[in-house]
Amino acid sequence: MTDKVHLGHRARKRFGQNFLNDDMIIDKIVTAIDPKPSDNLVEIGPGLGAITEPVVDLSGHLTVVELDKDLAERLVKHPFMGPKLTVHQGDAMKFDFSSLIKGDEKLKIFGNLPYNVSTPLLFHLFEFADHVEHMHFMLQKEVVKRMVAGPDSKAFGRLSVMTQYYCHAMPVIDVPPECFKPAPKVDSAVIRLIPKKPEQRTAKSTKILNTVCLEAFNQRRKTLRNSLSNLLSTDELAQLGIDASKRAENLSLAQFIEIANWIYDNKQ
Ligand code: SAM
Repeated sequence: MTDKVHLGHRARKRFGQNFLNDDMIIDKIVTAIDPKPSDNLVEIGPGLGAITEPVVDLSGHLTVVELDKDLAERLVKHPFMGPKLTVHQGDAMKFDFSSLIKGDEKLKIFGNLPYNVSTPLLFHLFEFADHVEHMHFMLQKEVVKRMVAGPDSKAFGRLSVMTQYYCHAMPVIDVPPECFKPAPKVDSAVIRLIPKKPEQRTAKSTKILNTVCLEAFNQRRKTLRNSLSNLLSTDELAQLGIDASKRAENLSLAQFIEIANWIYDNKQ
C-alpha cells in the first residue's frame, strides 16, 4: 500500500485529504471540543472518521458535511457510527449552517479542514457567527498565525481583521506533518474560535469592512494615503484621527471598523 492509501481509501488531493493518524493529537482535539450529549455538533470534512468516532462516542449524535461521495457513503454505512450520524454530502462552502439550528441550541462546529479552501470556508462560516457557540479547526499553521496576528506584524492582514472582528481566536496545539496520512508539506495547528456577541461587532456593514481590508492590504507596502485613495482622502482619514502615512498593518481592528463605518455614513 502506498502512503496515499489509508484504511482502504485513496486520498484525493483535490479534496485536500490528509487524514489524521495520531491518537494523542486526536485526543487533544476531542478534549478541546469537549462533546456532550446535549450538544448540537457539526463536523466539516469527517473523512474516514478520525475525529468523528471519538466525538460521536461522547455526544451520541453528530451532523457531518462531507464533499467526497465515497467517504459520505462510507460513513452512512458505517456499522457503529452510521446510525448516530446525520450525513450531508456536499460542499461546506455552500452549506446553510443555520438550517441545523434547533431552538436556542447553538452549533459547535469542528473539522480538520481541507487546506486548499480554508480561507473562503472560514469566511463562509463567519456569516453564521450568531448561530455558533464555538468552532475548532485544524488549519495550516501559517493560516492560524495570520488569524491571531495583531497590528504591526507581517502576518497581520485581511484574515486577521475579519477573524478578530467575528471571533475571539486562540491557537490550541501545533500539529506536525507526520501526524497525517498522507503527510502534508506544511505544518498544521488547531485554532479555537468563539464568536463575539453581536453588540461587540460594531461594523455597520461587514461588506464595507471587508472592502476596506481588501483595498488596504492589496498592496500592503503602500501608505494608507495611496492604498485607500479610492475610498477616502487624506483629510477624511485625518478626521478619523488616522495618519495617512501609516500602512494597513499599522491599523487596529477598531480603526478598520471606524473607517468602514465612516464610509457607510458618508459615501453610501
Ligand atoms: N476529518 C478527517 C481527518 O481528520 O482525518 C479528514 C480531514 S481532510 C484534511 C479534509 C476532509 O474534508 C476530507 O474528508 C475531504 O473530502 C473533505 N472536504 C474537502 N472539501 C470539502 C468541502 N468543500 N466541503 C466539505 N468537505 C470537504
